Amino acid sequence: MTHPSDLAPLRSLIRTIPDFPEPGIQFRDITPLLADARGLTQALDALERSIEPASVDIVAAIEARGFLLAGALAQRLGAGVVPVRKPGKLPGPTLGVDYALEYGSDRLEMHVGAFASGSRVLVLDDLIATGGTAVACGELVERAGGQLIGFRFLIDLPALGGSALLAARGWGSHALLRY
Ligand code: AMP
Repeated sequence: MTHPSDLAPLRSLIRTIPDFPEPGIQFRDITPLLADARGLTQALDALERSIEPASVDIVAAIEARGFLLAGALAQRLGAGVVPVRKPGKLPGPTLGVDYALEYGSDRLEMHVGAFASGSRVLVLDDLIATGGTAVACGELVERAGGQLIGFRFLIDLPALGGSALLAARGWGSHALLRY
């Protein structure tokens, strides 16, 4: 696992925007990191190192910022990508789960038959806060017959309890940075 001090340059590429999208939310904006070629490579290197080689068949990527990392990480892992999307975006028949957000509520959907039953699935998103989104995605993966390998995030906000929620369900997770 990467030593936290090795990731200090990544922290400097995360921009905090107060009161977005609502008063009281400190929005952790990863777009400067994505725009920095060295930072992006370092983040993907650290995510790749945190995953046992040849242990993942599918990266399940959560809309929308999870998508930005998923193709590159999946390619490094020798895995495919499955998009997990907001309602009404996927063209084929879907499975769906409703969930609560740090701000508001939403629903996630995945194509029926998106991966073969028994596939080893890693869930990827930019950030875990309350964990509602990640738990919903984990439930979708299990309902679809996937073997949930774990969760990866760039950022964990541990005070909001999401990573503890995953641990309480016996699901392994890892984030590169904590705020
Ligand atoms: P949650 O379901 O509460 O764990 O929220 C996680 C989802 O909401 C992720 O897809 C994040 O992109 C987004 N999100 C929640 N809180 C924040 C935040 N403070 N900064 C940036 N993104 C956030």
